[in-house]
Amino acid sequence: MTKVVTLAHYYTTPEIQELADKVGDSLELSLYARDAQADVIVFAGVRFMAETAKILNPQTKVVLPHSDSTCSLVTMTDIARLKKWREEHADYVHVAYVNSSAEHKALADWIVTSRNVDDIIAHLYAEGKKVIYSPDRNMGAYLNFEYGYDMPLWEAVCEVHDKFNQQALDNAYASVSGAKFLIAHPESPLPVLHGADYIGSTSQMLNWVRDFDGEASAVIFVATEDGILYNMRKARPDLDLRQAPIYSGCQCNSCPYMKLNSLDAVRAAQAGNGGVEINYLTPELIELARKPIDRMLEFSQRYYK
Ligand code: SF4
Repeated sequence: MTKVVTLAHYYTTPEIQELADKVGDSLELSLYARDAQADVIVFAGVRFMAETAKILNPQTKVVLPHSDSTCSLVTMTDIARLKKWREEHADYVHVAYVNSSAEHKALADWIVTSRNVDDIIAHLYAEGKKVIYSPDRNMGAYLNFEYGYDMPLWEAVCEVHDKFNQQALDNAYASVSGAKFLIAHPESPLPVLHGADYIGSTSQMLNWVRDFDGEASAVIFVATEDGILYNMRKARPDLDLRQAPIYSGCQCNSCPYMKLNSLDAVRAAQAGNGGVEINYLTPELIELARKPIDRMLEFSQRYYK
């Protein structure tokens, strides 16, 4: 019998998360995929995540439920231009965010996630290296501001996080009389991050909410994709959690690519009747893309234990 393991990102809908074997952020799911003893991995996320799973576990069949589940950080990055940019900065270390295609990863020296990016770049600067950062311009701008770096940045954004708006947040804040907090993902624009009480990856934000011990009546605004609110409310039903607005009156910011993972599409992929197999990565590409990922994993083992 075929053993199918289903992975679901926090940004998918609650029904999909409920039928998954593992729910997590992109790194957690990739590591789970790497170690999965399965014949088939159905990855309810977006294409770059399924590609990362395939890079880490090339023997296993990986299926993406919907072929159009891409990501603006990928579609805004032309690989030929990226290659040229890399060559123009030949004496720099190229650090790339995990939200990137396999071809993009193959052009990087290090892969990072929103959880370890601060530590890895600090480590490289401490070694006297010069760094270029791709593809997320907002995250790079935040790192440059926060730590005084001068990294040249690639110009792409997450179209979901880039919509969070400082003015709309100010208005939402003004409508709350008691205590209020803002937690934000570093893919958000810099003015939004400036006002945040906590900045972290999806999992770190979830942990922040889980451990929250402030005023019970506080309103907590969450500047990331709306799917995570399901997990946050499950973990802390006692809290007033609201998605940060993208314009006044609208707490509605959803990733269109993640939401292509309909329940029917995931079920069809599980049954072997749908989805698209990640079968186009050559062994050479897998090897090149794996090196900067392994560098990150090895760093994480050394520095976080
Ligand atoms: S939320 Fe943003 S970074 Fe994540 S898949 Fe959607 S567009 Fe890409």
